[in-house]
Amino acid sequence: MKFDVIVIGGGSAGYVAGSVIARNGKSVAVIEKEKFGGVCVRSGCVPSIFLYDVSFFLSRLTEIGNYKGLSIKVDPDDIFASRNNLVEYLSEAGKKLVENSGGATFLGEAKINGSIIEVEGEKLEYDNLIIASGSSPSLPRIKGVENGLTEDQAVNLNHIPKELIVVGGGFAGTEIAQFYARLGSTVTLVTKGRILKDVSDDARTIVRDSLEWDGVTVRENCEPVYQDRELLKTTCGEFRGEVVYATGRRPNFPTGLESLHIEANCNGIKVDKSMRTSNPKVWAIGDVVDKERKVAHSAMMEGYISSLSILGRDVRVDYTVVPQVVYTDPQVAVVGRPREVKRVSKFPLGASTRAIIHGIKEGYVKLGVDDEGKICYGEVVSQYAEEIINIIALAIKAQMKAEDLALLPLVHPSVSEGVSNAAKALFNLDVDVFKDSNGA
Ligand SMILES: Cc1cc2nc3c(=O)[nH]c(=O)nc-3n(C[C@H](O)[C@H](O)[C@H](O)COP(=O)(O)OP(=O)(O)OC[C@H]3O[C@@H](n4cnc5c(N)ncnc54)[C@H](O)[C@@H]3O)c2cc1C
Repeated sequence: MKFDVIVIGGGSAGYVAGSVIARNGKSVAVIEKEKFGGVCVRSGCVPSIFLYDVSFFLSRLTEIGNYKGLSIKVDPDDIFASRNNLVEYLSEAGKKLVENSGGATFLGEAKINGSIIEVEGEKLEYDNLIIASGSSPSLPRIKGVENGLTEDQAVNLNHIPKELIVVGGGFAGTEIAQFYARLGSTVTLVTKGRILKDVSDDARTIVRDSLEWDGVTVRENCEPVYQDRELLKTTCGEFRGEVVYATGRRPNFPTGLESLHIEANCNGIKVDKSMRTSNPKVWAIGDVVDKERKVAHSAMMEGYISSLSILGRDVRVDYTVVPQVVYTDPQVAVVGRPREVKRVSKFPLGASTRAIIHGIKEGYVKLGVDDEGKICYGEVVSQYAEEIINIIALAIKAQMKAEDLALLPLVHPSVSEGVSNAAKALFNLDVDVFKDSNGA
């Protein structure tokens, strides 16, 4: 059987690419070895944010209710069954979307043999190949590590661990530590350097305080030495409990990749701006690519870029406006080019009318402008950071001047008007903020 395009992997990157190719009248097959949806749907964003939501409601609804004069009592019910149903629904949707667009789907492991792709004994040929095979957890090389859980497994547990040790203070590890603590686990978070090393000190301090408020014991500058069932020996002491390793990921290279003679290294496959590899018939997208921020929305963007490029369009990937969100409470979101920042402004959400109505006390919107006065960076710490950061992403992409943003009448009262208030601060127009006696 021959297809115009074969896509290996039915995750965030693969289902987008397959659907776009099919909608444009080309024959396409998307091959998935487990279930459609990939990590984001099955063991990443979706189950993780579902548990984040549950833990948020459990921990904060009573408090928010009290603030608003309501008496609310929240108890956990069948949270894991609800999560499993949602994951199954979205996974099935990924497959159906490809088929609805006119694409063929195959279940089984794709093995590459030059211009032939083998799946479950069938031999498929292609004109163009897209590799969207994603990534898998990368575990530390310590004795007994096989007794622990990966981050993918941790978000799919069907019980609340009594005691949990999370190794790795990056995005996933910090999120897992907080939501299980809020669900009732006694959590220790152990990390090599500092937690959330890629975010600013301002944001890290707020998240750290929040973790401590939730009862998470944070042990920084600490590394695991060995695991003996539920005992983890580390450089900063011994801890007991179920152990989760959230210690990074490695690309999934399909069997036979070497037969394509494409350039790759241990971080992934090398591509140009249209996601094409060093082999002109082969594209690579998503977590399997050698790039910095491996998130679902960049994987999806690359799905569009690669498929449009195969369809003959001159489109290029732009990584300068890929927001990243840490789903802790409060959330931390960043976007843009921090190295180009010449001036910074910050609007505290404690001065936002809508935030005050909500009962949000902490958090801020921070903006960075470049030497031409254009917005080039944004950082938001807030319950709504995941939404607010998208506005800043748009402003950066549109090369918006800070002054134009300052005078933009965003909805009042809304938390997101903090974006234009942060821009106002650059021109001493942030009239909602109390100044100290020096006017500073
Ligand atoms: C705990 C956790 C939380 C996360 N939270 C977020 C978040 O909130 N927001 C965000 O943007 N990102 C998040 N991510 C990252 C996000 O999940 C990934 O960036 C995204 O899933 C990458 O998509 P992909 O299509 O490249 O790869 P994947 O989702 O890994 O999909 C690849 C697919 O290819 C299949 N496959 C592999 N090899 C073969 C083969 N040989 N034959 C056939 N099929 C094959 C796999 O089974 C898989 O289904 C999170 C990740 C984790 C682990």
